[in-house]
Order: sequence, then structure tokens, then C-alpha cells
Amino acid sequence: LTAFVSGANGYIAAQLIDQLLHLGYSVIGSVRSADKGDYLVKNFNSSHFKYEIVPVLEKEGAFDEALTKHPNVSVFFHTASPVLDVSTVTNPEAQVLAPAINGTKNVLASIKKSSPQVERVVFTSSIVATWDRSQGIVRATEETWNPVTYEEAVTNKTVAYSASKTYAERAAWDFLTQQKPNFTLSVINPVYVLGPQTFNESVNNLNMTAKLVTNVLDFKPNEPIPALEGRFIDVRDVAKAHILASQKDEAQGKRFILVADFYNNDTLVNIIRKNFPELQSKLPVVEKEADVSINMELKDDNARNILNIDYISLETSVVDSVKQYLTYKKDN
Ligand code: NDP
Repeated sequence: LTAFVSGANGYIAAQLIDQLLHLGYSVIGSVRSADKGDYLVKNFNSSHFKYEIVPVLEKEGAFDEALTKHPNVSVFFHTASPVLDVSTVTNPEAQVLAPAINGTKNVLASIKKSSPQVERVVFTSSIVATWDRSQGIVRATEETWNPVTYEEAVTNKTVAYSASKTYAERAAWDFLTQQKPNFTLSVINPVYVLGPQTFNESVNNLNMTAKLVTNVLDFKPNEPIPALEGRFIDVRDVAKAHILASQKDEAQGKRFILVADFYNNDTLVNIIRKNFPELQSKLPVVEKEADVSINMELKDDNARNILNIDYISLETSVVDSVKQYLTYKKDN
């Protein structure tokens, strides 16, 4: 089987490709530049991995050429989308909304036009496309949608990301009903993704969300622990969910909320203190663990019943990330 993965150098995509290669798939990954593709070729070190350069997602027909070159592709994973630090966003429409939404439309149009043999498409959406935070409590199921408006996102960069995921995912489902392509669609809606990098070398260039764990290593013993909490899923389970969603007949036409556990900075500090005694003197002591997020209600029935993954625990995820980070830093 041959799979195409857009945004191949991303944190989640690299784990996805690694698992696909181990399962015997051939993989074509799209990246924005040759240096990113060459990094993957070097690190995957597999004759079954190749890359194509697709520099601008939002340009119409962006994927036509890359797909025409690979007539054996039967499954497409669309993961590429802007995941930016809000402080770097000056133009939400150009930097966030357009690549996410038009990129998704272009991918699907190219597959329909240039790869009619593709049977399955898996789209990486997010929990932020499903939740409604307007009632004071955050609620989401695999049927609900974020009520954020496009107009709001154009002028408010703090909601641009959630709107980009919401409208990109909506565009994908609309494409299915309006264009009736040969492929079926399933959508992955992960909560906050943590866990190790596919390649040790990548700890030098951590993705936005993976930094959350290594940031804890900079907390000081005599300083208060910043309040931060959320829901967690390990990156390796996110990768696995993409593959299972592409393989299972019952997964077609469905959305999957991926959520394993909750975290807050107190739990992260305690996990690290317990598993890395050598760091205890460098980290704060948690007097009383803050209560974990209680104002969030997520229903993940599709994921539990259809994908049925035995999720990696927060402790394992954090320990694996910190171990990789410390080992790599020590050796280099
Ligand atoms: P990364 O930032 O590591 O990966 C994002 C990928 O998308 C990179 O390959 C990046 O390419 C590409 N990309 C970003 N912007 C553009 C653009 N304008 N044009 C072309 N390519 C672009 O993030 P993740 O791996 O975490 O994210 C992957 C997907 O998962 C995204 O769709 C994200 O929304 C989703 N997601 C992530 C969660 C998380 O907690 N991490 C939670 C829920 C969903 P380049 O390196 O060239 O910028």
C-alpha cells in the first residue's frame, strides 16, 4: 500500500510516517522545501519513503503534480496546517485561515482530479473544531461544532487557529457531499498532543505543543508554578488513530475525539520529580496538586468504540519525552 502524508515533517506526521513504514506501507510525504524533505530521508533511512515539494498549500491545484507522479497512492493523510505561536500572527487570514481552509479544499480537489484511485482520506482536525466554550463549560462530542465565526477570526488572532480547524474540517465534509469523490473521509480531533519526537535530533526544534513538557524543566525551585491545564493525548496514539481510521470500514464518515487524560503543570512536575530523582533539587516542590480541569466535558464514543486504542498514559508520555530530551542534550 502507498500512503501520501501532507506536512510530512510535522510532529504528528513524522510519527505517522514512522508507523506506516513499520507496517510495510510505502510513503510519499509533502514538505515545503528540499531541506525539510532531505532531513526526513536521512532520518527515516528507508527506500520506502520519498518526498515531494508542495510550497504553497493555498494555491489552487497545489497537489496536482505531486499526486500525478504517484499513481499508486491509495490513502491520503492531510495533516499540514499552520500551528503557530499566536504572538507571531499579524495577519490571521493570510497566515492561518487561508492555508488551513484553502489547503484542505485543494488537497481534496487534487485527489479527486489527479488520483481517482485514492479510496480513503484521513484529515487531521482538532478538538477545537468540536467544542463550544460559550456556556462557561467546555463541551464537545463527535457531532458538535465550534460556533466561532469566520469574520471573528479574521480580526481576532487568538481565535484564528480554532476557526481555521473548524472551517477546514467543514470544508472537507462539504466537499464529500457536494463533489461525491471516490474516496471516503474520516477525521481525527485530538486534544493537546504531547510525547516524544520521532527523531532524537528533532528535540532541537520542538513543535509548539511538545514544548509544554520540556518547559517544566526550566521551572525554578523557589518560584511559583505557572497555572496551566488541559487534556492530553500522546503523539504516538494520534498517529495510530490516523492509521486505524484509514483501515477500518466502520471508521468511514466519522469524527474521532482523541483524549487520554488531563494534565496540569503540577502533575507534570510531580511525574518528572518521581521519575528523574536527579532533577528533584532543580524543580519546585508541589505543596498540593491543583485540582484538574473539571470544566470540560468531552464525549469520545467513536474513538473508544471503533478505534479502541489502549492509550499511552500521561506518565509514560512525559517520561519518554524528558528522557529523550535529556539524553539528546547530554550527548550533543
Ligand atoms: P507541526 O507544526 O509540527 O506540523 C505542522 C505541519 O504543517 C508542518 O509540516 C508544517 O510545515 C505544515 N504547515 C504549517 N503551515 C503551513 C502552510 N502555511 N503551508 C504549508 N504547510 C504548512 O504541528 P503538529 O504536528 O502538531 O500538527 C499537525 C496537525 O495536527 C495540524 O493540522 C494541527 O492543526 C493538528 N493538531 C495538532 C495538535 C497538537 O496539539 N499538536 C492538536 C490537534 C490537532 P513547515 O514545517 O514547513 O511549517
